[in-house]
Amino acid sequence: MSQEVVRLLMDTLGKDKVLTGESVTERYHHIWKMEEPLQALAVVVAKNVEDVSFALRICNETKTSVVVHGGLTNLVGSTETNVDEVVITLEKLNKIIEVDESSRTITTEAGVILEDIQAAAKNADLLFPLNFGAKGSAQIGGVISTNAGGLRVFRYGMTRALVLGLEAVLADGTIISSMKKIIKDNSGYDLKQMFIGSEGTLGVITKAVLKLVERPSSRVTAFVAFDEYQGVLDFLKYMDKGMAGTLSGYELIWGETYTCMTSPPAAAKPPLPHGYNYYVLLEGLGSDYDADQKRLESLLEHAFENEMILDAALAHTESDLEWFWTIREDVHVIKSQCNNDQHFDISLPIPLIGELIEQMKIGLKKINGVEKVFPFGHVADGNVHFIIGKKDTSDALREAINDMIYPPLQAIGGSVSAEHGIGLHKKKYLSLCRTEAEIDLMRRLKNCYDPQGILNPGKVL
Ligand SMILES: Cc1cc2nc3c(=O)[nH]c(=O)nc-3n(C[C@H](O)[C@H](O)[C@H](O)COP(=O)(O)OP(=O)(O)OC[C@H]3O[C@@H](n4cnc5c(N)ncnc54)[C@H](O)[C@@H]3O)c2cc1C
Repeated sequence: MSQEVVRLLMDTLGKDKVLTGESVTERYHHIWKMEEPLQALAVVVAKNVEDVSFALRICNETKTSVVVHGGLTNLVGSTETNVDEVVITLEKLNKIIEVDESSRTITTEAGVILEDIQAAAKNADLLFPLNFGAKGSAQIGGVISTNAGGLRVFRYGMTRALVLGLEAVLADGTIISSMKKIIKDNSGYDLKQMFIGSEGTLGVITKAVLKLVERPSSRVTAFVAFDEYQGVLDFLKYMDKGMAGTLSGYELIWGETYTCMTSPPAAAKPPLPHGYNYYVLLEGLGSDYDADQKRLESLLEHAFENEMILDAALAHTESDLEWFWTIREDVHVIKSQCNNDQHFDISLPIPLIGELIEQMKIGLKKINGVEKVFPFGHVADGNVHFIIGKKDTSDALREAINDMIYPPLQAIGGSVSAEHGIGLHKKKYLSLCRTEAEIDLMRRLKNCYDPQGILNPGKVL
């Protein structure tokens, strides 16, 4: 049957769009695992929505599993495959169709890289606000299907808030297109939302209309230091009020993580000395650089005089801005200092973060085999990341670490995934943050969209 599927795909799409053999194994399933050859029956290089539709129809009729590959930057194993599965890659659906300055929208194919969308918006003096470390590789289809968050959710929301229209293909090949630019549409169920954040399990996204906002003409930023978590919280409230709606980022880096990110082999020097318990990197996006910078400076001075903060470093130039943000965005630096790195992306009520993360750190360090623990996160969104270094990749050690982090989230109404999704790696823990009835409804929806269960099987549910 497998060879029959390949033949059908080649006959329908053309041989040039269906890769097999070495052309498959020279690819990979994740940008961090390029040395591992991709395992798949074939890779369909779709060039338009019809290719996706035909490929899905064939796979559906032959009950062949399909995994969509975007930029391969997810952190939950959701693009892993086996030798019986067909990969559909959207890398050739890489056209930006239109930037509409009057509607403030960008219409794009799904394979366009996030950074290219940001650049196209910038060329029109607009902003696509979504921003995170993997922006140079992540494709907008992958970003939408993971409902990615990142560094400016506090002000602009997650991907979900920025998608106005969508085109997607169902498992049976049906094309569902609602490429509208309108902001409000209560005409029945908002079907596009089902594809956003569903990690390729309900359909394949092929195009999107995204919301743009006016491009702020000023960007100000500062690093601030604290020893108490309560201080981090009080300062958030103070800055949010003081910056009059321009606060766009409030990233927390724990002391040990900051030291790691700003010590050799990391290239960046520390803007503030090492030794504090917490560092916040904040960003304001406004319209008058001189006034915004002056306001930030005076807010920091006032906070310092009133002992709200222990230290602060203000970015004065473009290169300062880049220096400060590279520290936060370059998680590779942390990863490179962790053997067998394990990643976390949890959500929890903001007031509980300080104490709970301390307890988790203590518990993690007691686990035999845990070598390094680096927390950091989008604290204004209640989202904390951990990168953990450990002595081996055994299941026992991985689960011991998971068991230290995930179960406490249940009692406090947290989530095992703030933004990265469930994929393969967090499936076992889904029931800690979703009720049985919710999971049952998810299964029924999956069954409705994809009755044969061909789309990214084994992921999420
Ligand atoms: C350094 C680094 C920093 C990161 N920072 C953040 C962050 O701050 N916030 C955040 O939210 N995430 C972050 N991530 C995670 C990751 O970048 C996001 O999840 C991203 O949105 C995935 O996009 P992708 O194109 O790489 O998708 P992929 O990894 O290729 O795919 C992800 C999932 O989406 C599915 N998929 C891909 N394309 C489509 C499509 N067109 N239609 C349907 N399904 C599809 C895949 O099958 C898979 O299930 C980070 C990752 C890295 C490596």
